[in-house]
Amino acid sequence: MPAAPRLLATLLDTFFPRRCALCGVFDTWACDSCLRTACTPRIEPWNRPFGASRISQSSKLISLGLYHEPLLAHLMDLYKFHNARDIGDTLGTLLALGTRQFIQQHYSTAKPIILIPIPLHRKRIRERGFNQNARIAHALFMALGVAQAQYRPDLLQRTRYTTHQTTVATKDRAANIAGAFALHPDTDRTSVITGSHILLIDDIATTGATLNEATQVIMQQHPASIDYITALRSSAQTDLQE
Ligand SMILES: [Zn+2]
Repeated sequence: MPAAPRLLATLLDTFFPRRCALCGVFDTWACDSCLRTACTPRIEPWNRPFGASRISQSSKLISLGLYHEPLLAHLMDLYKFHNARDIGDTLGTLLALGTRQFIQQHYSTAKPIILIPIPLHRKRIRERGFNQNARIAHALFMALGVAQAQYRPDLLQRTRYTTHQTTVATKDRAANIAGAFALHPDTDRTSVITGSHILLIDDIATTGATLNEATQVIMQQHPASIDYITALRSSAQTDLQE
């Protein structure tokens, strides 16, 4: 590690020593035992309420737990807003278990499987220091151990800076994210999408507006399927209440 990040890591460990958010054990943000309790990994139908623009009746969402769950909400806050980047490795590794099971049950072994993280705008990466979706996706890919899988953060690009979706009213989120993505301009590169199984990876799914918008763009290259992986999800009940 270069000197500056190492100094920052040392300072963080001094002032914010790693402790499990639930049981307080040291040297971890969340211990294995508490994570097992907090995570309820699920593979469920992608039923976000985006109506007419819904791509496929058969798409699925793979996720670890609800974002209201205290340990997971705390981890996501540390991860996104306090630079605890290694939490992304934990989340990705946990997601690999459910993803491997999903692939075995649903995908043709003859087709490539392309893992695409939701990209951030350059300005957002400067603000946060890293793309939290890409870190989760890469850790997931490394833990997955599936021969026909590829990690391809280069295929989808963020072309527009947008306000944080969480600060936008639910009904306005689709408009806020509209036109924010594009495929890489090199069609030779993006042709790998055609006929492949696509796994789109985001940190949190609430209304599904972001994943839906990215889906519209990826569909231009005619994939065999698109499914979704997020660390946290809202419940259908929550969507109705928002
Ligand atoms: Zn614990």
